[in-house]
Amino acid sequence: NHLAVSGHPSFRESVGGKVPLGLRRRALRVLVTGGAGFVGSHLVDRLLERGDSVIVVDNFFTGRKGNVAHHLQNPRFEVIRHDVVEPILLEVDQIYHLACPASPVHYKYNPIKTIKTNVVGTLNMLGLAKRIGARFLLTSTSEVYGDPLQHPQVETYWGNVNPIGVRSCYDEGKRTAETLTMDYHRGANLEVFVPSKCLVRIARIFNTYGPRMCIDDGRVVSNFVAQALRKEPLTVYGDGKQTRSFQYVSDLVEGLMKLMEGEHIGPFNLGNPGEFSMLELAKVVQDTIDPEAHIEFRPNTADDPHKRKPDISRAKELLGWEPKVPLREGLPRMVTDFRKRIFGDQEGSTE
Ligand code: NAD
Ligand code: UDP
Ligand code: UDP
Repeated sequence: NHLAVSGHPSFRESVGGKVPLGLRRRALRVLVTGGAGFVGSHLVDRLLERGDSVIVVDNFFTGRKGNVAHHLQNPRFEVIRHDVVEPILLEVDQIYHLACPASPVHYKYNPIKTIKTNVVGTLNMLGLAKRIGARFLLTSTSEVYGDPLQHPQVETYWGNVNPIGVRSCYDEGKRTAETLTMDYHRGANLEVFVPSKCLVRIARIFNTYGPRMCIDDGRVVSNFVAQALRKEPLTVYGDGKQTRSFQYVSDLVEGLMKLMEGEHIGPFNLGNPGEFSMLELAKVVQDTIDPEAHIEFRPNTADDPHKRKPDISRAKELLGWEPKVPLREGLPRMVTDFRKRIFGDQEGSTE
């Protein structure tokens, strides 16, 4: 049992701050698919920090070597350029499966590739998890709720998704990925042969922002921040009354790790319940970067969800998790990173 050791403060105190050798938590071998991306690279930082060995598998479609460059000399770290649509053989204890473009601009760029990544890529990672007995965590999305008819969204809500729209490669892709994950968890119900089952976890992630986001990925927070810094108008799509709930990346990473280490499968909503319209977000960006920044209205994209806000009661109760960083605190940290990358060091930052 890899959780057998105590990192509990009172225990640490009782042994004078030092955990005796035999009682230390065994270091794990962890695979992070999509680990060179925005969320993945922050997760990798935390896993290495706590002493685990990490393998990143990434095809660098939206990820960058610069996001993990600061670990390249670490003997506990390895990057493999590989597309999860192809099978792979590895030996690890845990798999965080993040590989998939997350920005609508990126996932719509090659929708067939996006759905293959979600379906075939997830199938391969589940096949891998099953073969080696690894614990598997899927990073699903709030997009599985589509244009929700229930507000805020609870995990028991089945969603309102257009199966043939331009966002379907992503939202239907993730829905299928969730289905595959649960089917691998339950195993085949055959009388003669019952294949081993997988230990799985499902996170439904709501809009997340922070340092290392792709500067020109078209997502609203990265667009507004880059636009304000470059003295360009903030592009508000539609009437700007649609809402989203924005979570700072460190809160998400903590939630993902709690989910992986805990005893519950999920799905769990991981998001910050603070809800903002796009006009309100523009105001926060103006206050943070440039009160003179202009707003320019643009036509909205097809099937854009009107509102989105997580109900996080389940994660609070069962994982003991809730986000800590409000938008007005997290945004300045992202601005520092964007400023550096836009005006200075282009290779990326280690923030
Ligand atoms: P990202 O685009 O920065 O990272 C995705 C990573 O996956 C990139 O490094 C990319 O190169 C890699 N990748 C893509 N397709 C691949 C493939 N076929 N094989 C191997 N690698 C591949 O996105 P992110 O924001 O870090 O998102 C990470 C995960 O979290 C995604 O699965 C995304 O769907 C999910 N998610 C993110 C958000 C968010 O707001 N950031 C919200 C909901 C869900
Ligand atoms: N797979 C993989 N690595 C492994 C084991 C499986 O990439 O270590 C892939 C395998 O190629 C297959 C998928 O995972 O395409 C599903 O594997 P599983 O064994 O569940 O199904 P099967 O191979 O019997 O279809
Ligand atoms: N949006 C906007 N201006 C932009 C980019 C996006 O007003 O420059 C809006 C978009 O229409 C959507 C919301 O911001 O209503 C969130 O879009 P994003 O692409 O960031 O994420 P998602 O739609 O996946 O939640």
